[in-house]
Amino acid sequence: MELVYYSQILELATTIILVVVLFMLYFYGKIQYVKDIAQAFSLYLILLIISIISIAYSSYLLISFIKYFLLVATSFFIYKSAYPQRHPPLKDNVTRSLLLLTVGLIPVTATLSNAKDLLEGIGYIILGITFVYTGIRWYRKMIPEIKFSKFVGGGFVIFGIHLMDFIIVQYSPTTLVYGYFVAAGMEAMLAVALVFMNFANMKMMDRISYTRYMNLFNNSSDAILMIEKDTIFDCNVKAEAMFERSKDQIVGKTPPMDLSASYQENGRESFEYGHELFSSASKGEITTFDWIHMSANNKPIQCEVSFFTIDENQFAAIIRDMTYKYAFEEELNFHKYYDGLTKLPKRELFIDRLERALEVSAEKVALVAFNIDNFKEINDQYGHSYGDELLRQIPIKVQGVFKQEISMTRLGGDQFVLMFDRLVNHNRVYIPLERIEGIFSEAFTVVDTSIDISVCIGVAFPEMISLNAMELLKNVDFALNSAKKKGRGKLEFYSDDGMEEFNRRVGLEKEMQKGIASGEFVAYYQPIVESKTQKIIGAEALARWVKADGEMVYPDVFIPVAEETELIINIGEQILYQACLDCKVILKYYPDFVMNVNLSAIQLKDMSVVAKIEEVLNKTELTARHLHVELTETSFIEDGGAHFNEILRRIRDLGVQVALDDFGTGYSSLSYLTEMEVDTIKIDRRFIVKIPREPRATALIQFLTRLVHNLGYEMVIEGVEEKDQLDFLVDLGCDYIQGYYFFRPMPFKQLKDLME
Ligand code: C2E
Ligand code: CA
Ligand code: CA
Repeated sequence: MELVYYSQILELATTIILVVVLFMLYFYGKIQYVKDIAQAFSLYLILLIISIISIAYSSYLLISFIKYFLLVATSFFIYKSAYPQRHPPLKDNVTRSLLLLTVGLIPVTATLSNAKDLLEGIGYIILGITFVYTGIRWYRKMIPEIKFSKFVGGGFVIFGIHLMDFIIVQYSPTTLVYGYFVAAGMEAMLAVALVFMNFANMKMMDRISYTRYMNLFNNSSDAILMIEKDTIFDCNVKAEAMFERSKDQIVGKTPPMDLSASYQENGRESFEYGHELFSSASKGEITTFDWIHMSANNKPIQCEVSFFTIDENQFAAIIRDMTYKYAFEEELNFHKYYDGLTKLPKRELFIDRLERALEVSAEKVALVAFNIDNFKEINDQYGHSYGDELLRQIPIKVQGVFKQEISMTRLGGDQFVLMFDRLVNHNRVYIPLERIEGIFSEAFTVVDTSIDISVCIGVAFPEMISLNAMELLKNVDFALNSAKKKGRGKLEFYSDDGMEEFNRRVGLEKEMQKGIASGEFVAYYQPIVESKTQKIIGAEALARWVKADGEMVYPDVFIPVAEETELIINIGEQILYQACLDCKVILKYYPDFVMNVNLSAIQLKDMSVVAKIEEVLNKTELTARHLHVELTETSFIEDGGAHFNEILRRIRDLGVQVALDDFGTGYSSLSYLTEMEVDTIKIDRRFIVKIPREPRATALIQFLTRLVHNLGYEMVIEGVEEKDQLDFLVDLGCDYIQGYYFFRPMPFKQLKDLME
């Protein structure tokens, strides 16, 4: 008898330790399933204590009731540990009510039929079954990459079986002792497994959250709300910023009503109007609508909301803040910020914009100041009204060349400052500099007099992060003054490095021009494979620069420079032409072959690209359906979509299909997926390098696949290198695969041999 007592104490002690360990893990890691298991075992602990102290009163009805409900509640939390977000059987109201009813009816029936002694036993069986059921899910699904997850699952299963045999064991005092020992042993093992699992898990999550996989969700320039039924269950960082609320304050709310102004722009009440939009959006009848949200500080936010169905009950709402755009339009009305003569922003406004640009991405900013060398003479010779007219013309010409790429101001007299805030990197400033020099190499016509002018130019970059707008302005002024000291038409950088880089780039551009003229840019081909059949369905043409001395230069080196200099237009045309010719050859062996050709944003600036494609198709006599073009979202972002979609429409009217390339890099705004009129989405390789090992990466690709397919696009996954990645993607139902696993880019001859 005494042994039974000690073994009971031992089980009590291990349970206490387990509970303490679990709560410590929870406070350290804040992982939901740990909390659930901790709550479950706390209840189990209370049950043990009650059992021990109530031995004498075990015939009381109330004690049986309490024990029964503790066992049911423990079951609930154990079950919940395996379903952190959703609880399948508890999901809909009917099953939930049925379940509650059954759980409630059991004690009533037991009491009425005078079988209350059985009640505790039934409770143990419920708990046992729950442990086994949940254990299986833990074993197979919870964190399959971490082997301790399997230990926990296995532990649950054994513990569950043991709980059920406890009822039999109870009738024999000797086996009962072993029963308690086994339970204590199991709990100790569970404690160890959970500790190891959580450390491994936390380490892994830590690593993942710093990788780019969360890029799409968390670095998206749009707020994203994940909604189940009509409740938000997850949101990204941008959403927290937009609504000025933490995730905890957003999760659980009902969108869009809970986060909105009371009335919408059309005068309708948000609640009613929101319900209407929400229900037609969830039926897929509309995909975007405008909505005024309200931040926690009661700031109205003008939004454009795009809606995606993920599955029957889950949606994603992608919300773009348009307030800035509207505010900007209003700003234009504030004449006090604009210079009357040139209509340019005044210094304050310019500094304001510069400040903003520095905040967003200082590494993309450059200031260029210039000053007219002979302005004083012009004024003296032709009079002030001539001078003024010249000053009016300068910004018109400059802005005509750069369009929206710049902000410009006049700092008194004849000195102008331009801000570039989208340079891919600082040394790319040399292109705009050439363009400025180009502007002044032609004579200006003022009234009817032609005037030759020359300028000195100063350039400065924010070389330190701490540099503010005023200092940068001072630096560029300093550079301009040093240029002026050297004489007319001079250029000076604020630092020596800038000057060196400038010279290097001018050299590279000349070399590329020669390369283009002598046909040094050639196409390599990387086959694209259908994932189901693993057959080649086409290839992507990738440019290579093979210099005269045999050195091969890869696109990551020359494409950026080619884009800056717009030489990409020539290179792109050569590759397009070559690829179409080569495709024609392959079609002899492979009548369904499709050639993919990349188009740069620069090539897509205007409609001429459509005529170009048509011309190449005619010249090479290639049927349009054998050509696909790939383009990135960059071009789309820059013109806001309308003009761009028109180009896409015309390309598609030719019969050429369009693929959105590199999805997942850059801005990766999910709403582009609905706005851009393309046929195929190519998912960037960064998305799949870590699958199928890392659960978050895996989850993301699963989400994307469903999204892309639901929106009716085909999907190409790029950069597949490993067998396990391939297997995973094939299982997932991705349509096409491109990657080193199958083929590296190869010269045409090799492709031809392969296809023969
Ligand atoms: P992209 O269009 O995303 O092309 C795919 C790139 O991924 C190619 O690099 C290809 O060699 C590489 N790749 C394919 N499979 C794998 C893989 O399994 N693992 C790894 N690590 N890489 C893989 P590449 O040829 O260096 O081209 C780089 C980028 O240059 C292209 O990216 C494209 O944006 C641009 N580019 C290439 N040719 C042209 C062209 O003719 N015109 C334009 N506008 N851009 C081009
Ligand atoms: Ca591509
Ligand atoms: Ca790509």
